[in-house]
Amino acid sequence: MQKLAVEKSMKEEKTLKIDEAWAKQKPFHFFGPCSAESPEQLAATAKQVADIENNIFRAGVWKPRTRPDSFQGIGEDALSWLSEIKAEYNLKVATEVAHPDHLEKALKAEIDVLWIGARTTVNPFTVQALADALQGVDVPIFIKNPINPDLSLWIGALERINKAGITKLGAIHRGFHLNDNGPYRNMPNWNLAVQLKAAYPNLPLVCDASHISGRPKLIPQVAQKALDLDMDGLMIETHHKPDHALSDKQQQVTPKQLKIILHELVEKKSACFDQEFQSQLELLRAKIDKVDDDLMDRLAHRMEIVKQIGKYKKENQVTILQLERWKEIMDRALKLGDALGVEGDFIKDFYNAIHDESIRQQTLIQNQSHDSQDA
Ligand code: PEP
Ligand code: MN
Repeated sequence: MQKLAVEKSMKEEKTLKIDEAWAKQKPFHFFGPCSAESPEQLAATAKQVADIENNIFRAGVWKPRTRPDSFQGIGEDALSWLSEIKAEYNLKVATEVAHPDHLEKALKAEIDVLWIGARTTVNPFTVQALADALQGVDVPIFIKNPINPDLSLWIGALERINKAGITKLGAIHRGFHLNDNGPYRNMPNWNLAVQLKAAYPNLPLVCDASHISGRPKLIPQVAQKALDLDMDGLMIETHHKPDHALSDKQQQVTPKQLKIILHELVEKKSACFDQEFQSQLELLRAKIDKVDDDLMDRLAHRMEIVKQIGKYKKENQVTILQLERWKEIMDRALKLGDALGVEGDFIKDFYNAIHDESIRQQTLIQNQSHDSQDA
């Protein structure tokens, strides 16, 4: 389903209108605390991150907390603290809005950049209410991915806000909450971010390494991966005393740690115009194209055989799924992959996709009426 939606959006005319001059101001970095807690806390953090180039100082004013007895954010009062930070440290400031009322107050306080959080992106009614309230307003808006890995929902939110006339528009990849998030707080599912980038190359895409990682230890590798995928900025929650933070204390880093992380990141260029590099790359890409041609040819051939088998199964009234045979195919593929150094998890995904398609093809054959088969 998801794949189909993206294919559709890639084929369709690109629907997002982005202010190109603004987008060129990248990278868009959001370093600051999860929440605004007090004027002192904001100042103590801000003064240590004010010298980082392109930093838009983030701090949540209204916090979307899972439980009602957790810290819900200071609310409106914290907006004036952010205005003071902005003036005092010559920093741009950003906060989350989840409601037209938040938006109105944040705009009045001249907050420079706003973001829509993961729990809001999931709700088209709320996103539309925000879009309606944004008519005629010129403010940069970044939209986090929804909690669930639904790319269409993310794109839908971007479209709603864009249709309201917001062209200073960006996306924030903060990972997805799945049943099993592996070592992460939220599973990155990098391929969804890549698909978004492929569909809308001019849309700034920022990686929220903190909400993906959930702990400082993972942040460097997540941030590096984001750079390797040519993302356009980072969000890293930074607090002068993470142990005392009122929200997300387990994942915030100190300004000092942040600077070490940034220092150790390896910036890679998105293109290299060196002659030697270009010709080597072209050679290797030509080889890849050839392999892809062969792969496609073999896949098409395999599907033809699958269809023949489907017909035999139908004639002999045998079930499509033959569990023993399927296990045998997978085992064989895994052994072969192992011998040739192809990763087992990848083989599983690949063969599951092939098997799904084979079942789909054979189901079509089973459902064909005799008339249409003869036709
Ligand atoms: C946040 O940025 O502090 C936040 C609540 O993020 P998310 O919407 O990604 O959970
Ligand atoms: Mn947070």
